[in-house]
Amino acid sequence: MIFLITGAAGFLGSALANTLAREGHEVRALDDLSTGDPNALSGEVLFTRGDVNDRPKLWTLLQGVDCVYHLAARVSVPESILYPREYNAVNVGGTVSLMEAMRDVGVQRVVYVSSGAVYGDQKEQPLHEQMRPKPRSPYAVSKLAGEYYVRTIGALWGIETVVLRVFNAYGPGQHLPASHPPVIPNFLRQALRGGTLVMHGDGSQTRDYVYVDDVTRALTAAATSPQAVNEIINVGSGTENSVKTLVDLVLACTRQKATVVENPHTAPGVARMCADLSRARKLLGYTPRVSLEEGLRLTLARDPRFNRAPTRPASRT
Ligand code: NAD
Repeated sequence: MIFLITGAAGFLGSALANTLAREGHEVRALDDLSTGDPNALSGEVLFTRGDVNDRPKLWTLLQGVDCVYHLAARVSVPESILYPREYNAVNVGGTVSLMEAMRDVGVQRVVYVSSGAVYGDQKEQPLHEQMRPKPRSPYAVSKLAGEYYVRTIGALWGIETVVLRVFNAYGPGQHLPASHPPVIPNFLRQALRGGTLVMHGDGSQTRDYVYVDDVTRALTAAATSPQAVNEIINVGSGTENSVKTLVDLVLACTRQKATVVENPHTAPGVARMCADLSRARKLLGYTPRVSLEEGLRLTLARDPRFNRAPTRPASRT
């Protein structure tokens, strides 16, 4: 098959692109490199630097494509609170531009990578797709608006759509910005460098942490599964872990002792998140394979930022 992946130089996009290229598909990659790294892509992936709002570029890249994976986005919840306009322009505007270009060229299917963040705080767990979304941040609103645009424009023009609500993904290559870093690579880095692990609130909040290889399996299935068309499907581990448990596992896997601090001044976000995977099982044949502990060990082993031998201070003579 011929694929176009937007945001392909990012954490999830590069894992997907490399997997599809390894399986022998033609993979075209688009990324503006605002945070992505083209070196994460294997030599077989055809990389183009560009903005997802650049429709002429999209018209060219979409020729002959069977399925588009749309991942290009700004991805930080705290950053979206500071810059909601940018999040709207890239995450919503970019999605609309892509759907328009797909309509113009006549592409058959799009897989839109949405987020478990659209659920917000819900009374019931696990979270299932029929619940009314309650987004709590501009990021979550932008992902939900993207879902509506993809499904609405798709229905109007006969484009097959699959919306995947991915929960807290982690693994090798996850972007680690200085401000607002994602929790897992941040804790691993802090533990390995003997730093402090700061939990927002008391660390009792739970999340559904899902390893990148499991996400990639769900994504690849979504391109061809006939039952997934026009559906919204959760992709997670189906397991709920508190941030406190995550800290314990990080310290056990890194064999480090670190100072752990509760910060009562930072909002811990929603209290609980756990994905109901019934639909994913039924429509994608998806079963997560990697536990949190195993995923942390794989991340430590596979991410060169974490598996370097400890450096010794230069000896002074
Ligand atoms: P990432 O930041 O590593 O990847 C996003 C990529 O999009 C980056 O490479 C960036 O350079 C690119 N990009 C940003 N703006 C662009 C633009 N205007 N034009 C072209 N490219 C642009 O983040 P990720 O974690 O790999 O997330 C990928 C997708 O998955 C996003 O849509 C995100 O909302 C979604 N998602 C991620 C998670 C997670 O836990 N990582 C969870 C749920 C959903």
